[in-house]
Amino acid sequence: MSDFDFESFITDIPDYPEPGVVFKDITPLFADANAMRQTVLAIADHFRDAGITKVVGPEARGFMIGVPVAMELGAGFIPARKPGKLPRETYFVSYELEYGSDTLEIHRDAIESGDRILIVDDLIATGGTAAATGKLIQEVGGELVGYACILELTFLNPRDVLATSGDQELFSLV
Ligand code: 5GP
Repeated sequence: MSDFDFESFITDIPDYPEPGVVFKDITPLFADANAMRQTVLAIADHFRDAGITKVVGPEARGFMIGVPVAMELGAGFIPARKPGKLPRETYFVSYELEYGSDTLEIHRDAIESGDRILIVDDLIATGGTAAATGKLIQEVGGELVGYACILELTFLNPRDVLATSGDQELFSLV
């Protein structure tokens, strides 16, 4: 496990996007060349021997961290996008948010049988986004190996939600 101080590059933004919410801003971590590199390497190193063939990243910050992790693992990358953004036929999953619901889509031919999948996002809060993405992958025949994120909000107990989709590992840096 890396002893790099990832947390010092994450900024708390009070009352964003609405009053009472403290948003974790990870853009300083990406703006610093070494911090970004340490982040990508720490996640990739953890899964280097896991035989990952595809990394799936939810829109949009999951793209920023998912693509370099995939390159480092010698794996492909699949974007999980908001509705209507992908040009070809898709599979989709809808999931509940605190207020309302959300939907993510992947291209129908993105996952091949035998693919070993790692889901990567910047932050896991309730675990709803990651769990829904995992469910989608398993429904279309991918083998879900685990979840990785930079920041896990442990006080929201995302591991309880993720445990319902199987015993896949959740690896977080902070
Ligand atoms: P969850 O579904 O686990 O409740 O929320 C995680 C998703 O919402 C991730 O895709 C993440 O990018 C986004 N998200 C929620 N809160 C924050 C936050 O405070 N900071 C950042 N960077 N992303 C957040």
